[in-house]
Amino acid sequence: MHSKIVLITGASSGIGAATARRLAADGHHVVLGARRVGRLAALADEIRASGGRADHRELDVTDLDDMRAFAEAARDRLGRIDVLVNNAGVMPLSRVDALRVEEWNQMIDVNLRGTLHGVAAVLPHMRAQGAGHIVNVASTSAHRVDPTAAVYCATKYAVRALSEGLRQESSDVRVTVVSPGFTRSELTDRGGDPEAQAAARAAARQLAIPASAVADAIGYAVSQPGDVDVNEIVVRPTVQG
Ligand code: NDP
Repeated sequence: MHSKIVLITGASSGIGAATARRLAADGHHVVLGARRVGRLAALADEIRASGGRADHRELDVTDLDDMRAFAEAARDRLGRIDVLVNNAGVMPLSRVDALRVEEWNQMIDVNLRGTLHGVAAVLPHMRAQGAGHIVNVASTSAHRVDPTAAVYCATKYAVRALSEGLRQESSDVRVTVVSPGFTRSELTDRGGDPEAQAAARAAARQLAIPASAVADAIGYAVSQPGDVDVNEIVVRPTVQG
């Protein structure tokens, strides 16, 4: 398979890290971004030790300049950007009437604005190349709404909407939405209402599939020939309702 330059946001844990391992094993050069730079360095070392190609850079997707610098550094060093996996995300759960406004804004900033920042950072390069592929990680929460997840779902529905709009406008850049269900990761470890987070952790413990299952779906979409655009994949545990 043709080796690609693949940028991955949120590559320090969970689905992003699994995607980095999978795509590097497929022969692609992966560029890892997230805030926990020590984790990225360890993952890049691990990939290189297994014969893969990886480098990393600290990245906060909520900062457009930082996202642009991440993309430009990769393009300058490696010559092009074939794929961006917009994966960074947060999910502090709570009821709307708890009015945890700071966490609403964090979800909008990371899940929605961060995804748009990724698009803004790579689209001009991909248009200039005449080809590219943007993979946006949404969620089954982009298909159905559950209590304590209203704002999270709102951000993920928005990611699906913007992906479909971008797809309709693009005859050269492929756009894929990957929507995972319960997946083993660190997503429920941070923030949110303690009771809602504990319930999500318990459900995840019972139901979750490994992050590599989602990485495999991303790998499938990336591996298709240039004239084949896999637009959406939903991957959920068989037992998830
Ligand atoms: P993790 O918490 O394990 O990973 C989230 C990643 O996002 C981390 O690498 C984190 O890195 C990164 N991140 C968070 N904020 C920022 C930021 N401001 N800038 C850059 N990176 C950031 O969870 P998952 O692997 O599960 O999450 C990956 C994606 O999958 C998310 O979009 C999530 O919504 C989605 N998803 C997950 C599901 C699940 O059940 N696990 C189900 C459906 C969708 P760092 O903190 O180092 O910056």
